[in-house]
Amino acid sequence: MTDTGTRPEAVNGDHDVIVIGGGVTGLTAAHQILGRAPDASLAVLESSERVGGIVGSRHERGFTVDTGPHGFVVYGPGGVGDLAGELGLGGELVLATGEAEKLLLLRHDEELLTLPTTPREFLRSPLLSARGKLRVALEPFVAKDLSEEPVYEFTARRFGWELARTLAVPAVLGVTGGDSRRLSIDAKFPYVRYLEERYGSILLGALRVQLRGTQTGRFYVPRLPKFGEFGMRLHTFRGHGMQRLIDALEKELAGRVRLGCRATGIERTAATGAGASGRRWRVALENGAELTADHVVLALPAYTAAGLLAPHLPDAAAALDAIPHPDVRVIALAYRRADVAREPTGIGFLTIPTERTRILASIHTSAIFPEQAPEDMVLIRTLAGGTQDPAFSSLPRDEAVRNVHGDLVRIFGIRGEPVFAFDHLWRRAIPEYPVGHRRRVDRVLAAVAELGGLHLAGNAYHGVGVNDCVRDARRVAADVTSALPG
Ligand SMILES: Cc1cc2nc3c(=O)[nH]c(=O)nc-3n(C[C@H](O)[C@H](O)[C@H](O)COP(=O)(O)OP(=O)(O)OC[C@H]3O[C@@H](n4cnc5c(N)ncnc54)[C@H](O)[C@@H]3O)c2cc1C
Repeated sequence: MTDTGTRPEAVNGDHDVIVIGGGVTGLTAAHQILGRAPDASLAVLESSERVGGIVGSRHERGFTVDTGPHGFVVYGPGGVGDLAGELGLGGELVLATGEAEKLLLLRHDEELLTLPTTPREFLRSPLLSARGKLRVALEPFVAKDLSEEPVYEFTARRFGWELARTLAVPAVLGVTGGDSRRLSIDAKFPYVRYLEERYGSILLGALRVQLRGTQTGRFYVPRLPKFGEFGMRLHTFRGHGMQRLIDALEKELAGRVRLGCRATGIERTAATGAGASGRRWRVALENGAELTADHVVLALPAYTAAGLLAPHLPDAAAALDAIPHPDVRVIALAYRRADVAREPTGIGFLTIPTERTRILASIHTSAIFPEQAPEDMVLIRTLAGGTQDPAFSSLPRDEAVRNVHGDLVRIFGIRGEPVFAFDHLWRRAIPEYPVGHRRRVDRVLAAVAELGGLHLAGNAYHGVGVNDCVRDARRVAADVTSALPG
């Protein structure tokens, strides 16, 4: 990692822009603002001793373990693919192997089922009963209903309860650690909802888009994205994992990133000094220092942004604070290939929850990114905890690792002990977008815009993926630079 941070003592002063939060959103916003306004005086304040926030990678004994996101999928213009190009990282992108096109489902604690991707595979798959399959086939005849629903109810209404139980529950748990009965289909999977709105049927809409393509104001979908296509396949960065993106952004921002700088308050203040006009923001730091700026970007988790917003907009702050953020735990275990009876294939598995299995989802890192593990080793990254199993976050490390190891032994017929174990607990890391989320976010952003000079960006607003965060950072960078004096 490049060391470009400076100590907080050195940063008293006035700026055009202060970005609070040095995760991928804050770094990208800062990079984009400087791209549009190179002369702007800008500082990024990061409370911890490293930038990157949730994004980071560990390198040990020939393994690369991403501590947060293990890769990214590109959709829509202005996402990570474009950013990587702008940072000169285009040549370092690594595409996941074809294994990434296969997703598995863990049933009955040990049976791995490959999820079907074609109608023929679906008909032959033991995924659903004959009755469940018939109900799915009737989806085009289900009446359109555009009232906002949780993912579980939406899936059940359109495809039947069996598919909702078998797929919606594990998918939401495995991807966000959240609850499919709470998560909004409109906020989390707006494209699926769009298909119902536009075509009256998800199946027919998907088929039509696949054949003809579509482009709307809201969605950029040249054709229905397929896993195997460049954009929709999972990517990472050669030799470094996701950390590479952070290192490149940090390098671009050399001298402007302040590590160990926690913002504790923001306050409206009158501009002072020669030629000053209008009002500015004063940012208080934990160490007692203060900074001022015309524009402040809060690129923070929603609940932290809420704390800073509360004195100015208590209702908006309460709305942000109410967004659920379940804890999730990333445990990665590596085994000698010779000790693994059933080779983990595919991108990984989702789990139908039971009392026995603690893993919510797995990523088969050595299958999709072989360069991230020595050739004679198998590396499996798992996600556990979430709303389903909140007690998992309190387990001591050894016990948490033992639980996950026990699950993997059963599923893959592993004979030996792990040769490498990584454990990281993410407290309140992935926001869950409940029903009503989009309306609440629109209201919060409108109220914040009224204050003037204050901006919100991050994973709580328009999508949680790294690609979404990068796009949100660009949105806010455009807002800031359009308001800076020309
Ligand atoms: C386990 C896990 C797996 C994931 N997997 C994927 C994946 O495979 N693909 C994908 O696309 N997405 C994935 N995501 C989602 C994605 O990684 C995140 O949504 C994204 O990284 C969030 O970035 P951010 O910059 O908005 O927030 P953060 O990364 O949370 O950054 C916020 C920063 O603000 C700092 N900060 C906090 N308070 C203050 C303060 N008061 N003053 C100054 N600084 C402060 C924090 O230290 C932090 O660095 C995953 C998330 C998790 C948790």
